[in-house]
Amino acid sequence: MNIGVLALQGDVREHLSALAECDALARPVRRPEELDAVDALVIPGGESTTMSNLAITFGLLEPVRKRIAGGMPVYGSCAGMIMLATTVLDGRPDQESFAGIDMTVRRNAFGRQVDSFEADVAVDGVAGGDFHAVFIRAPWVEEVGPEVTVLGRVTSGPAAGRIVAVRQGNLLATAFHPELTGDLRVHRYFVELVRRAADDAR
Ligand code: GLN
Repeated sequence: MNIGVLALQGDVREHLSALAECDALARPVRRPEELDAVDALVIPGGESTTMSNLAITFGLLEPVRKRIAGGMPVYGSCAGMIMLATTVLDGRPDQESFAGIDMTVRRNAFGRQVDSFEADVAVDGVAGGDFHAVFIRAPWVEEVGPEVTVLGRVTSGPAAGRIVAVRQGNLLATAFHPELTGDLRVHRYFVELVRRAADDAR
């Protein structure tokens, strides 16, 4: 079982080491051939407009969309969540996404005064209580389609109640960055999801 980390831009290294700590084989994916060689993909945090441009330049936009349509498990954090959304608000007009999760996300939603902040998030299915989550110019989810399960909401502060973690089938997304805090629960949850998807395919 090989998990790729989309390595066009963003905090690729942090995801690679979080996955390695979960005993998953993880490798960077920059080219379509590298995508073919992985069973699942993580889309890191970074900047979604830049990631969109680079995905087009590196010929990865359509290949990733196809793999998603074929059931490949994908986890996106922050910019990665934006890249997984079917609808992006406050994006650049030419911004593309891989889509996959039937949701509307708003970029930089928490506002300029809280560019970066930490808050507790309750995440369903991730054991051990609330998640201490780091948000950096993060999106939030404004609307989800009927196939989407809301896994996590901010539990306190001005953004309380905002949706920040979702799952649709094999696709998982968080507005925050578990790869930056050393809390491996979300990565473990994803690795488990990838294992189950691989078992089901057998
Ligand atoms: N604001 C960024 C974007 O629009 C996301 C920020 C992040 O990934 N930390 O892509």
